[in-house]
Amino acid sequence: MRVERSAVLWRTVVALALGVIVLVAAQGAHAAVDVETVESFIAKLWPEAKARGVTRDTFDRAFAEFKPDPALGKLNAKQPEFERPLGAYVEERVTATRIEAGRRKAGEHAALLQSIENRFGVDSKVVLAIWGMESAYGASKGNRTVVRSLATLAMTDARRAPFWRRELVSALVLAQERGLAPDALVGSWAGAMGHTQFIPSTYARFAVDFDRDGQRDLTGSVADALASTANYLAKSGWVAGVPWGFEVKLPQRFDYGWAAPGRKRTLAEWMVAGVKPGPAAGHVTLGTELQLVMPVGAGGPSFLVTQNFKAILRYNQSVAYALSVGHLADRIAGGAAFQAAWPMEPPLSRAEREELHSLLSARGPAPSKAPAHDAKAAIRAAQRALRLPDDGYANAALLTRLRGTRQSSL
Ligand code: CA
Repeated sequence: MRVERSAVLWRTVVALALGVIVLVAAQGAHAAVDVETVESFIAKLWPEAKARGVTRDTFDRAFAEFKPDPALGKLNAKQPEFERPLGAYVEERVTATRIEAGRRKAGEHAALLQSIENRFGVDSKVVLAIWGMESAYGASKGNRTVVRSLATLAMTDARRAPFWRRELVSALVLAQERGLAPDALVGSWAGAMGHTQFIPSTYARFAVDFDRDGQRDLTGSVADALASTANYLAKSGWVAGVPWGFEVKLPQRFDYGWAAPGRKRTLAEWMVAGVKPGPAAGHVTLGTELQLVMPVGAGGPSFLVTQNFKAILRYNQSVAYALSVGHLADRIAGGAAFQAAWPMEPPLSRAEREELHSLLSARGPAPSKAPAHDAKAAIRAAQRALRLPDDGYANAALLTRLRGTRQSSL
């Protein structure tokens, strides 16, 4: 949960149905903070921390030599999922190196992984994949002081300030509970810690002491970190013995309305509708309920996913992330690469999405900005009118066509 995990913080809408259409882009923080702001921030934070059980001693130690971290504004403004094509994101994360390292780690930690799987019922390959995604199997856990990072973000990122404040206080509570100095908590720039990059509130709720040394230590103990990840997935609704999902091939004529959130059918029903499961579907029973996900519309790979895909999304609310985790897990287990190619066009920028929205509004009854369903329905209606595949995915081709129709109607 370092950069990827923290993306859940400001990602506004990545509804399953919308794939990667993001309605509001990340906003950067301003790094410059004056002394007065710092003092007033700390003074106002104290009652909040006190109310959650932080002692004056812990609090004073946390801020005795506090200085905002000037590097965070830039880091916070940069969100790779939004700037890169989704397929590029997946391919950059599920690399041959990471797959190989995952297989090596599976061997090294075989006994531990088996006992975690027995205890939590979560596929240990998925736990390994999250470890690989979050910290390159422990190689990059982050070396920033968590309290300093979270306090800086709480002061400078106005849009997410309440979230950062809560995490900051959670970090103080955590340090206190573990008997650590507040600046002993070290992690990513977004305050995520350890092998599987838990933010403080997640740490508090889901971390477990699997090696039974009396500490829930996600940085120093691989056993604690991997078991905590399995625990988090289990508490997020993971169903034992079921895969996250698998790639499918859709028939040529297909009602893309079926790729709507909450529309589930059993594997048998999908197959009757002409959907062909790929090889990874081998161990899914015909009665399993599945949802169709088309992350980049009809022009890219399609997937049928289970409840377990949603559990991974709880870890990080990004379809790109969840697909990367699921796919990396499959590849570690010896599975094949995706069959369909990813289109490598970048997602629409914020300005382009706004333009698309106003062009859609000009065409008829204004689609409301939320809920996401309406936006998707408006896109599909426009696609049908333009005789494009009505997959509800807004891309550059649709925007170009909409601009063209506006000009021809002038
Ligand atoms: Ca421990």
